[in-house]
Amino acid sequence: MAADIRLFPCLTDNFGYLIHNPATKATASIDAPEAGPIVKALEHEGWRLTDILITHHHGDHVGGVAELKQKYGARVVGPHDKTTKIANVDHRVGQGDVVKVGGLLARVLETPGHTLDHISYVFDLEKALFAADTLFSIGCGRVFEGTYPMMWDSLLKLRALPDDFKLYCGHEYTAANVKFALTVEPENAALKARAEEVARLRAANKPTVPTLLGDEKKANVFLRADEPSVAAGVRMKGRSAAEVFGELRERKNKS
Ligand code: ZN
Ligand code: FE
Repeated sequence: MAADIRLFPCLTDNFGYLIHNPATKATASIDAPEAGPIVKALEHEGWRLTDILITHHHGDHVGGVAELKQKYGARVVGPHDKTTKIANVDHRVGQGDVVKVGGLLARVLETPGHTLDHISYVFDLEKALFAADTLFSIGCGRVFEGTYPMMWDSLLKLRALPDDFKLYCGHEYTAANVKFALTVEPENAALKARAEEVARLRAANKPTVPTLLGDEKKANVFLRADEPSVAAGVRMKGRSAAEVFGELRERKNKS
């Protein structure tokens, strides 16, 4: 089943995403950082918003929900409310649930760590992963509410998806992520190739997403915390992957 996916900037460094099914004309927004750019993208395409799929409660992901819901009468899907109240949610989902967007199917993965309520949406037939603030290109989200082992488990869930799936993440943070990753794995050929690609894209003012999950597995140090080269890069040879991951995250926080 073919779907059209559009991405565009929102707020300072968020991505807005629309996924559209031409057969049923259903259109979902993945998160809603702010209403303006989402309305503009919908009008540009001639699409009508039917669903909003929320990943977590942070303001830069839900700020536009109320306005969009009012304007389009869209159904709002969000995570089971474990820690916070997200307003305007019509349908709450958790691990393994399948959300229907017209003829499209999105599988829900619970990916806590950045927040306790964070979920990711996987469109298996379209080979598309919307991971918001859990997994970035060459990076991952800050661990605000969960623990490092919890976030590492969430990253393993995403890493288990096939190499030919595309990653659509929540923010344009790739250039800063590459800079940090090179301090850990300076000799990683896939990372060096990605660094060049990102420099080229940013110089042309183009987004660095989507990326292939297979490429992220080779170049994203946060997905590689169980690789000896990454453990060595933070002087933690022989330590558990979750410990190495925690050290990576703390170093990135300070970078
Ligand atoms: Zn967030
Ligand atoms: Fe965010």
